[in-house]
Amino acid sequence: MKALDELTFDNRFARLGDALSTHVLPEPIDAPRVVVASNAAMALLDLDPAVAQDPMFAQLFGGHTLWANAEPRAMVYSGHQFGSYNPQLGDGRGLLLGEVYNDAGEHWDLHLKGAGMTPYSRMGDGRAVLRSSIREFLASEALHALGIPSSRALCVIGSDTPVWRETQERAAMVLRLAPSHVRFGHFEYFYYTKRPEQQKLLAEHVLTMHFPECQEQPEPYLAMFREIVERNAELIAKWQAYGFCHGVMNTDNMSILGITFDFGPFAFLDDFDANFICNHSDHEGRYSFSNQVPIGQWNLSALAQALTPFISVEALRETLGLFLPLYQAHYLDLMRRRLGLTSAEEADQQLIEALLQKMQGSSIDYTLFFRRLGDEPAEQAVARLREEFVDLKGFDDWAAQYLARVSREDIQDEDARRERMHAVNPLYILRNYLAQKAIDAAQAGDYSEVQRLHDVLTQPFTEQAGMQSYAERPPEWGKHLEISCSS
Ligand code: AMP
Ligand code: MG
Repeated sequence: MKALDELTFDNRFARLGDALSTHVLPEPIDAPRVVVASNAAMALLDLDPAVAQDPMFAQLFGGHTLWANAEPRAMVYSGHQFGSYNPQLGDGRGLLLGEVYNDAGEHWDLHLKGAGMTPYSRMGDGRAVLRSSIREFLASEALHALGIPSSRALCVIGSDTPVWRETQERAAMVLRLAPSHVRFGHFEYFYYTKRPEQQKLLAEHVLTMHFPECQEQPEPYLAMFREIVERNAELIAKWQAYGFCHGVMNTDNMSILGITFDFGPFAFLDDFDANFICNHSDHEGRYSFSNQVPIGQWNLSALAQALTPFISVEALRETLGLFLPLYQAHYLDLMRRRLGLTSAEEADQQLIEALLQKMQGSSIDYTLFFRRLGDEPAEQAVARLREEFVDLKGFDDWAAQYLARVSREDIQDEDARRERMHAVNPLYILRNYLAQKAIDAAQAGDYSEVQRLHDVLTQPFTEQAGMQSYAERPPEWGKHLEISCSS
């Protein structure tokens, strides 16, 4: 276990030079204090959890002081936002403080979000508010606990610094961890500005640091692109299986590592709705829940375009063609497991689609449906769940098919079935209204609810004593919260 001043930095991205990032110092926030910290994220850096109580912790992650060997940089990138190319984005309010090695030899980017203005701030103030910082923190750690790849969050630091959004709010900083902060938009930036040398530098860096196994392949860049396609197919399959809606799938928010990245007005589904749009600025529903799959492919094709200097168009096209089948295979596998099925049958896909059709418009809580399905033997569970459906006849048809399908499984032991199903069907998810309650308390100065919610969500599959209220459907006020896009 390390103390705060014992972190080992090796800032490889900074060494790539000023064409890829710019040296910028964090601008401190006033009266920095720890809102919440993740023990699991601290463990990634071998940090003793007690360091969160060290006064230096809030000083470091509130931008007041730096490690001697950190090299804060704002990265430059561009990207497609809502389908249109924006030539100049970049870290407008976040800084890559440096890359830290842990004792296991893994390295983690330390990225401080809300650290002040940079050359890429455009019209922005370089800040992040407490509300969005708490949401990012909770989501990062909750997704990870669900087994969904995500950037991680070490802590949120609150402050007295005023920030103007729709109303006056307070600035905060999140310390984000990820093995890399390279986005699709990094490649797009050098492609569209026609700077092949810098693009090559970036590509070599990503290949050697993050996809070393691809170097052994006859076409390393193609192998790397294939890996990026595979990881994103798997990631989006997990989002769809667990009802996670990202909300702003612009290519500058897509990680080359295939992790969930850059949280905005995201939401987990409460009631199942394939057409759910969590981002209120997304008037056309470009990033609606069910559109995440074709948009994932669209984003990968934008990345493919940027990789044409390195890879033939035919090879890129062929590799892009892998996305949908890979997505489908992962999705089917997860959904079968959510339904308690251990074997695979041809008609399973149809069984899953039929279920979602029945759920649509019936106000069925997406998370609790699967959890309850595993609570009891299939026949009893289905009989109990039936009451919630509007189209009873439709549900009965589906239930008959499901029970017939279950009867072809070799279920000897109901306890084992329940355990198996509960291990993939969470009881607790980050519902918007739960996040909102924690944010309201935090804005009033009480941070305990953020920590409690975080703690519950780190064990989403395990029923926790006294935590029943975190497993409930949203109350009326919490059903259609408009989560502000400003952050
Ligand atoms: P986002 O929507 O958070 O993914 O951000 C899109 C772009 O706007 C990125 O280049 C951000 O760095 C930048 N940005 C967002 N909010 C701010 C802000 N308050 N100040 C400066 N830049 C920002
Ligand atoms: Mg972003």
